[in-house]
Amino acid sequence: MLEVRDMHVYYGGSHVLQGVSLHVGRNEIVCLLGRNGAGKTTTLRGIMGYNPPAAGLVAFCGETISGRPVYENVRRGIGYVPEERRIFADLSVEDNIEVAFRAPRPDLAPWTRERLFDTFPQLARLRRHKGGAISGGEQQILAIARCLAGNPRILLLDEPCEGLAPVIVESLASIIVDLKREIPVLMTEQNARFAFAVSDRGYVIDKGRVRYDGPIKDLSANEEIQSRYLAV
Ligand code: ATP
Repeated sequence: MLEVRDMHVYYGGSHVLQGVSLHVGRNEIVCLLGRNGAGKTTTLRGIMGYNPPAAGLVAFCGETISGRPVYENVRRGIGYVPEERRIFADLSVEDNIEVAFRAPRPDLAPWTRERLFDTFPQLARLRRHKGGAISGGEQQILAIARCLAGNPRILLLDEPCEGLAPVIVESLASIIVDLKREIPVLMTEQNARFAFAVSDRGYVIDKGRVRYDGPIKDLSANEEIQSRYLAV
């Protein structure tokens, strides 16, 4: 569904991604793991078009999208939840979702207000609270719900666990696993335990290159890779 082939991204003169390749199939949760500064966020931003690749290919649903602007990639169905979540603090939970609705896809079950509140009952209870007045974990769930309101075909999540308490991380894990039936997910994580619990496959990135990829079971058993590239 999503394919990245030999993607190179620069920030000015700094060659940050040096040939990243990965793919995400339908009904898959794929994680991109690595330490601070490894290039995880840049990989997602390269796919979205915020940092257009200087070389390489990004294809989505069979179409080449590298070099296309962000708004087109969103329209095509790539949903992106950035690390900082960007919740509207002064809007209610309900209105945060309301402003994000986009036309459903003819071939996919539409995300409606009712379906989102059924899927995320914790948000239904908070629907009239201001976005800025709910907890970090609730904001993360709201950010995911708001992204789904755009009726995307895939979700890109940047470090969804960042700053969340362990008990919240557990409930987020079950939310993401449940979503797998509906939509594929590519997420970045530093929290390897969380990534191991929810993903089907994993990529380990370091200094802008993929150093390992494989089924999550193999990665979670590979202590050498973990100690070399992850802060486990
Ligand atoms: P983190 O967990 O810290 O977000 P990451 O794996 O997502 O780490 P990136 O944010 O992709 O890493 O950063 C990769 C490299 O690019 C780092 O060396 C970082 O310092 C550099 N970098 C990131 N953003 C910029 C920028 N706007 N300008 C210049 N260099 C940048």
